[in-house]
Amino acid sequence: MSVRPVRRSGKKPAPLPEDRPLMGTRRIVIDGGEVMELVTVLRDPETPEERKEIQDVFKNNIPNVRMRLVKKDCPKCQGKAFIEVAHDPQHPRLTESHECGCVWE
Ligand SMILES: [Zn+2]
Repeated sequence: MSVRPVRRSGKKPAPLPEDRPLMGTRRIVIDGGEVMELVTVLRDPETPEERKEIQDVFKNNIPNVRMRLVKKDCPKCQGKAFIEVAHDPQHPRLTESHECGCVWE
């Protein structure tokens, strides 16, 4: 028999970080049937420490997690993670996409 916790009030306690892991692993099967575990980000980081953790773990694979790290209210990229840069002032419409620095802030 399982015991259900009784809710005393309508107020929910703040979930503990352990209940909402920042990262987890996902199993994928690669060629030959070998199983690999990939680290995956499960939710957006909420503190500078969590951002740092993701940046450290994914430093070589940032494209996979860029949208988790981008600052949604970034004045430069407006949360798109890319900014258009014109290299030649003579041709301002010739632009290139660059990753916005806010991903790494
Ligand atoms: Zn930005």
